[in-house]
Amino acid sequence: MTTAVPRSLRESEVRQDVREFLASEPVRAELERLSLLPPGEEPGHSEIFQLLGERGWLAVNWPREYGGLGLRAVDAATVAEELALAGVPDVAHVLSVDIVGLFLLMAGTQEQKARHLPPLARGESIATVLYSEPGVGSDLGSLRTTADREGNGWRITGRKIYSQKSQFASHGLCAARTTDEHGTGISLFMIDMMAPGVRVSPIWNATEERFDDVSLDVWVAHQDVIGPVHAGFDVLNTVLALERTGIDYQGRVRRWFDAIRDMAQRTGLAEDEKLRGRIAALDTKIRAGRLMAYEAVAAIDAEAVDPVASARSKWFNTELAAEVVELGLDVGGLMSAVTRWDGEPAWRETLESMYRESPNLTLSAGTSEVMLKVIAALGLGLEG
Ligand SMILES: Cc1cc2nc3c(=O)[nH]c(=O)nc-3n(C[C@H](O)[C@H](O)[C@H](O)COP(=O)(O)OP(=O)(O)OC[C@H]3O[C@@H](n4cnc5c(N)ncnc54)[C@H](O)[C@@H]3O)c2cc1C
Repeated sequence: MTTAVPRSLRESEVRQDVREFLASEPVRAELERLSLLPPGEEPGHSEIFQLLGERGWLAVNWPREYGGLGLRAVDAATVAEELALAGVPDVAHVLSVDIVGLFLLMAGTQEQKARHLPPLARGESIATVLYSEPGVGSDLGSLRTTADREGNGWRITGRKIYSQKSQFASHGLCAARTTDEHGTGISLFMIDMMAPGVRVSPIWNATEERFDDVSLDVWVAHQDVIGPVHAGFDVLNTVLALERTGIDYQGRVRRWFDAIRDMAQRTGLAEDEKLRGRIAALDTKIRAGRLMAYEAVAAIDAEAVDPVASARSKWFNTELAAEVVELGLDVGGLMSAVTRWDGEPAWRETLESMYRESPNLTLSAGTSEVMLKVIAALGLGLEG
């Protein structure tokens, strides 16, 4: 594990507090339970999620009035990094707090914030993100779900795919077309996931957390439009840039790498000079990825959000995952095929689950190619 370089006393205190919490017996037992969930079951309102919520650690940098701790983005990143290093499932957290919550903070009315944010910060409710559609992912400006005026609200009709945790969510932040204009004609709605006309079904994938297929034919009150009507697309893109610091991805990659390095040491494979060199090179890259992630976080605290720093960190850290897994397959040999459901796995982090999960990292929250386009266009001035 990396040695933390605290930027402030508070950051090191936050890190210490979170580490102590994660090392406590009930948390370790719950993590063990979650890591052994059978195929088809996945964490939703896990006990850890709620314990973190009680301590304010789900929304560290939100204002206190909305259930946060009123700290900085770097403190939130510190907590996110520690959770990832400990293997705490983070999808519900990222969706509810880092995307939906952040969108509400940036664009919601006082009433919307007061209504939705505290339960999300406390881990009492989960919110899902309803952006992608069949054939519409990277180019969200061309989405086809429509929102038409009906009475004092809107009728939303369409189909969303690849959302996660929708089966546990109380609300979904849904992007829908309110005019015909590409990109500019998009508005965001907070949908009650229990409302008639919202149907959720699973899309199974290679990983342990399913995607959801969400059909919508639902009426939403005008007061549940979040942000500007017809002009929600810019907010959506800003929130995505803020969310892409890559801190959670790099924590996960570090956890995988440390487990593989330990295995190489235990089995004696690390005595091989070539392999030692590969391990050292990868460790250095992961440290570089960590610095990139904290650079993106620092820009947020300086109120100078840097989409290029975020894209760089997201791209670098997630592409590293494939290299780490490749090393793992070479170190693990036949052990790489053992799943956590095959009786006694030799180590808690099974290589085969990393293998299944790593491609996902380069796709969610913007693909690697899209990140490179952002770096090329905004960072290097290369248009086209
Ligand atoms: C683990 C995971 C979780 C997700 N969670 C959610 C969620 O909660 N809510 C939600 O709405 N969606 C979610 N998604 C969907 C995700 O946002 C999309 O998969 C992603 O935006 C890519 O869209 P797509 O799959 O339609 O691929 P496409 O956009 O069709 O891209 C296909 C390929 O073409 C490349 N490509 C696309 N456009 C360009 C371009 N302009 N230049 C160069 N290359 C390009 C892409 O990089 C990719 O390799 C999730 C996806 C994953 C993997």
